[in-house]
Amino acid sequence: MRRLRIPDGTPEAQYRHAGLLAVQVCLLLTTACTLALSGPLRVGPTDQILLTLLLIQHTGYVLWLRRAPHQFQLIGLLELGGELLAATYRMHQVLLVDHTAHGLSGYSYWLALPYIVASLALPPRAALAVSGGYLLVLVALGAAYWTHPDVPHGLRQDNGNAWLQMLLMHAALLTVITLQQHLRLRYALAVTRAERRSAQALRDPLTGLPGRRALDDWNRAPGRTHSVVYFDLDHFKRVNDTHGHDVGDDVLRHVARAARATLRTDDRVLRWGGEEFLLLIRGDAGAARAAAERLQTQLRSHRHPVAGAITLSCGVAQLAPHETLHGALRRADEALYAAKRAGRDTVEVAA
Ligand code: GH3
Ligand code: MG
Ligand code: MG
Repeated sequence: MRRLRIPDGTPEAQYRHAGLLAVQVCLLLTTACTLALSGPLRVGPTDQILLTLLLIQHTGYVLWLRRAPHQFQLIGLLELGGELLAATYRMHQVLLVDHTAHGLSGYSYWLALPYIVASLALPPRAALAVSGGYLLVLVALGAAYWTHPDVPHGLRQDNGNAWLQMLLMHAALLTVITLQQHLRLRYALAVTRAERRSAQALRDPLTGLPGRRALDDWNRAPGRTHSVVYFDLDHFKRVNDTHGHDVGDDVLRHVARAARATLRTDDRVLRWGGEEFLLLIRGDAGAARAAAERLQTQLRSHRHPVAGAITLSCGVAQLAPHETLHGALRRADEALYAAKRAGRDTVEVAA
């Protein structure tokens, strides 16, 4: 069963949800139009009741798809099951029981829909198996009609020919849908891989934090105040010299974890290089200073098991209205050096 599941939240799931919603809206409109024109179209009372039930069903599915998009697959499978049963029953009735003299009925135009719904509700192989099975049922119905002793001769040839052309068209449609589904999945896989690789390229492998290049993606909301905190570990060289490079590396990871733990959801941390990091803060210099001090407090209370308490020197700069990020970074760097000169373990705000 798990192999049949389409993972939620992926572009593939979004595509399938949108496709099923479009199908349901089309069916809803068709049912409503047929009901509205049931007089001139001479739709019988039984069919009117059936159409009303279908109208309720499609309205329900549309609302369900809108309210609970993640349940698209269940809704698609319910729609598919209903269609397969209705199509088989209806065509069995038309061809083998009623032997209607006026062609295959309007319903026959919708007989191709299960291929589309199956391709939206199921992974490629399962969709092909269900669709292929359905096509075989339609072939069997045609063969039963052709050999049925009660079918009048002229009708057999007219309807038989129409049925044959329809089956050939179904086979062509099924081939194209299957090919398209395979290509789409291969394309989606390639896009996912490329996105994962580029996300990895942006990450610093030691700490798992975004690296300097992630700065280009920082999304600054227009009209909001932003600030940066540039910080540098104090006397980090001593950590390396005293405990070795591996402990130094672990201290960098320790600081990265502390930064992640103390940041608000809108704010970001990245490793600038060496033992220097950057906080990107949505807020003014006061908010940035508070973020830097929260991190300092965290590192004071959560000592590194080998290197002990780690202290930081921080430079804060609030972006002026038309200032570039790099302008603010330069000022934050100057403030950081002021913090070092002031004796370290402190926060300085740039003028
Ligand atoms: P200050 O308080 O003035 O900042 O002194 P500091 O010792 O922290 O500054 P300095 O710039 O002299 O030393 C930084 C050290 O950080 C030197 C370098 O070997 C070390 N370093 C840079 N990147 C890494 C790394 O990825 N892992 C480890 N273990 N050490 C690193
Ligand atoms: Mg440094
Ligand atoms: Mg340092």
